[in-house]
Amino acid sequence: MNNTIVVVGAGISGLLLARSLQDAGASVVVLEKSRGYGGRMATKRVGEAVFDPGAQFFTARDQEFAALAATWSDAGLVANWPESSHRRTVGRSGMTAVPKALAEGLEILREHKVAAVKRHACGCWELEIEDHGIVRAERLLLTCPVPQALALLKAGGVNLPPETKALLEQITYHPCLALLVVLSAASSVPADGVTPTAGPVRWIADNVKKGLVQNVPAAVTIHATVDFSAKHYGKSEAEITALLLPAVEHWLGASVVSATLHRWKFSEPTTTYTERCVWLPEIGLGFAGDAFGGQKIEGAALSGLALADRVSVHLQRA
Ligand SMILES: Cc1cc2nc3c(=O)[nH]c(=O)nc-3n(C[C@H](O)[C@H](O)[C@H](O)COP(=O)(O)OP(=O)(O)OC[C@H]3O[C@@H](n4cnc5c(N)ncnc54)[C@H](O)[C@@H]3O)c2cc1C
Repeated sequence: MNNTIVVVGAGISGLLLARSLQDAGASVVVLEKSRGYGGRMATKRVGEAVFDPGAQFFTARDQEFAALAATWSDAGLVANWPESSHRRTVGRSGMTAVPKALAEGLEILREHKVAAVKRHACGCWELEIEDHGIVRAERLLLTCPVPQALALLKAGGVNLPPETKALLEQITYHPCLALLVVLSAASSVPADGVTPTAGPVRWIADNVKKGLVQNVPAAVTIHATVDFSAKHYGKSEAEITALLLPAVEHWLGASVVSATLHRWKFSEPTTTYTERCVWLPEIGLGFAGDAFGGQKIEGAALSGLALADRVSVHLQRA
């Protein structure tokens, strides 16, 4: 096989999809709007501190995903969350460890934000990239959150089959406001994090206790609840910080050195598609990601692999 395939998005689904197709002999290019790999499996440096601002850990229930996760563990990329009674797996150097390793050997154009995708008269895809001109592809695989994928198609005037379009349009996402807090001394946050049952916060974890190597005494990730995030999403960083910090004061247990806000507009899908991916062979267009058949890192990974299987079979027959 030697077909030009463009994958949009270097999150876990896009990276596994691209690797799998490249391993099967296809010619693949990944376009990613950010500087880093991993999408919502991010690891972020704020001054001397290192945070996982998005996904905190993953769990493996499906056999195929568990086998894949075992290879990441054997390679020293992931480990169990230290001092936790839950079966939670974390990246050794942060959640981005696995995406970084998956990115090796792939052609990934970072800081390439796709603005629109069009069908060209030749039957191929034409992608408009912000500040980088046009990229053409025979097949286009979209792994960004579904509303973003649909916006790219709309911007390029692409009409999807009505039934598929209607199903995809039903998929929406919750936002999540994440506050990244550096403390002056060790925190009082329990080693395996806290999930408060009331108030504006749904998750607090200290990245130092999680095992991320750094030069600060405490680097705490705080995730606001879905309701709080939706209600206050458009407020300023100062306003959101002022509302969230008092609610977690007793968990912090030391004075705040800095607080940095990260806004996740598309945090988790509110509904998922019934199948693991969408593949439209007649126009060479596919969709994958955590909105397909099972949410979270595990669902996103399995979705990327499922789309790779569908496309590989198609290419072998073509
Ligand atoms: C706050 C938060 C906490 C979470 N906690 C957990 C957890 O503890 N455990 C768990 O399993 N899951 C968790 N998740 C969910 C998990 O992170 C996601 O389900 C998973 O990482 C999604 O992977 P993906 O590949 O589908 O999408 P993404 O990771 O979103 O990847 C999509 C990629 O597409 C890129 N992109 C978007 N638009 C464009 C464009 N126009 N051009 C080019 N590139 C583009 C994005 O930059 C991104 O890199 C959490 C998520 C958030 C936000």
